[in-house]
Amino acid sequence: MVGVTTLFIVMGAASLLMLGVLGSLARSGIPGVHACILAAFTTATGILLIAAQPLLPPIVGVIIANMLMGVGMVLYLAAVRQFFDLRVPKAASAVALAVQLAGLAVFWYVWRDFTARVVLVSVIYSMLAAAVGITVLRHRPYSRPAYPYMFTVGVAMFVAVGYAVRAVVYLLRIDAVGSLAETSPVQIAFLIVGIMALPGLTLAMILMLHDRMLAERETEVNTDYLTGVLSRKAWWLMAEKVLALAAHNDRPVSLLILDIDHFKQINDTYGHLLGDAVLQHFGALAVATLPDENIVGRIGGEEFAVLFPDTRIDAALLASEGLSRVVRGSACSHGEWSVRYAFSGGLVEWDGQESAQAMAQRADRALYAAKDGGRDRIVTSR
Ligand code: GH3
Ligand code: MG
Ligand code: MG
Repeated sequence: MVGVTTLFIVMGAASLLMLGVLGSLARSGIPGVHACILAAFTTATGILLIAAQPLLPPIVGVIIANMLMGVGMVLYLAAVRQFFDLRVPKAASAVALAVQLAGLAVFWYVWRDFTARVVLVSVIYSMLAAAVGITVLRHRPYSRPAYPYMFTVGVAMFVAVGYAVRAVVYLLRIDAVGSLAETSPVQIAFLIVGIMALPGLTLAMILMLHDRMLAERETEVNTDYLTGVLSRKAWWLMAEKVLALAAHNDRPVSLLILDIDHFKQINDTYGHLLGDAVLQHFGALAVATLPDENIVGRIGGEEFAVLFPDTRIDAALLASEGLSRVVRGSACSHGEWSVRYAFSGGLVEWDGQESAQAMAQRADRALYAAKDGGRDRIVTSR
């Protein structure tokens, strides 16, 4: 039979290994990564102190060791909350740690009771692990693959249930042992849950951090660096998705292709930097003015496309005219310069069958008609 001390040493070593992997992500700048590293370090230290319990004075081997594990769990919860940009529950965490410290002190110095200590720390760890699981379940991003997040939920809930069962077993004194050094199959089973807890939770955080980094790179690739709207490629991919969905649900889609008027003249008169500022200004206005479900992309130099899912051409025209008015009415300032500009647009409604390219061609023709007709207007093609 493997001794309990060996289990604790394996547990501590596995935690240190995970800490090494986590360290590689320290510079990712993602919220929560530092708290998680601290959590893993604190917990690993606590575990190793528990392993060395027979050699240490009780204040270190029992009180400090258990407190370090409690602090580790609190820090892990904080890391997960920070990761999702949520408030860290400082007061509740402090209360949990204070209760743990008071309980450990009472059940060691005043009324020495191993079972009571086990029940106390098990209840606290179970609640903290459950809080981790619930946080991730409630705040996982639905636009991302579920795997990294559900893995975390799974590990956290496994730990929460494991500690809860441990609390009940000891509370009912089903498995009566007097100290950690005594081994029983039940005791070993619970220690295995403990062994899984920290490396499992650390691994879970690593998966979530990787997914976050992937999401950041994807956003970067899909975003036009100058204007902040979708890049040409991302917009076309989105257009194909929107049409496929519209075909499936038998819903309308409208498309506006627009081009800023006399843009070359702006560049020639005020310089390329002001030209860039105008493009930025337009991107910001389009995103701020149009409802969120509309999909804005920069498909050429000063040419943009707006997709209106679930929208008939009349409603899309109203929105487009609104944008036109806002653009006309707000000058773009850059340094000492301030310039007013306008755009021309071609607006069409999807015929229910044509490809995204065919629909864009029709919108382009309408845009040419708007330019021919004197610019600063939107021409619809029905
Ligand atoms: P129209 O009213 O017919 O649309 O005339 P226009 O001057 O807007 O169109 P034209 O196609 O003659 O000129 C577009 C100019 O946009 C030419 C190109 O140098 C400039 N341009 C393209 N991309 C950028 C960019 O990223 N930044 C800046 N500053 N200029 C750009
Ligand atoms: Mg132009
Ligand atoms: Mg152009």
